[in-house]
Amino acid sequence: MSSNYLLLCIDCNEGLDLGKTFKIRLSTDDRESYGFDAIGGLGINRELGDKAVYVEETIEFLQFFLMKHRLHEIRVLPDTVKKYETQNSSGIPDPYPDYEKYGEYMKAPIVKPDPDKEADILDKALIEKLKNL
Ligand SMILES: [Zn+2]
Repeated sequence: MSSNYLLLCIDCNEGLDLGKTFKIRLSTDDRESYGFDAIGGLGINRELGDKAVYVEETIEFLQFFLMKHRLHEIRVLPDTVKKYETQNSSGIPDPYPDYEKYGEYMKAPIVKPDPDKEADILDKALIEKLKNL
């Protein structure tokens, strides 16, 4: 059984469904690698036909998700991490896109980012990690 992967904002408990992994061919050197089928990749439009529409919507959602959760702790995790849910937590979120709620979710305001100000409000632990990169 193949699992989906989730792009999760740990800070907000929101997730984006990246879909299942699938083989892609890299355009740089023609090697095979792996990608996530919900956000497309080389060949997906050719092979899956009308799924291309879904990919476009998911890319739009990915743009929105990354902008909304910039500066937050974001991880790519398999949905099998749901095994760590406890009764005391709200649990791993059901990932978007849920097209019933898609339009409503996309109404969340996004202000124009200010990279200089945002670099000044990072928490100390992250700044220390950045210093050690
Ligand atoms: Zn967030």
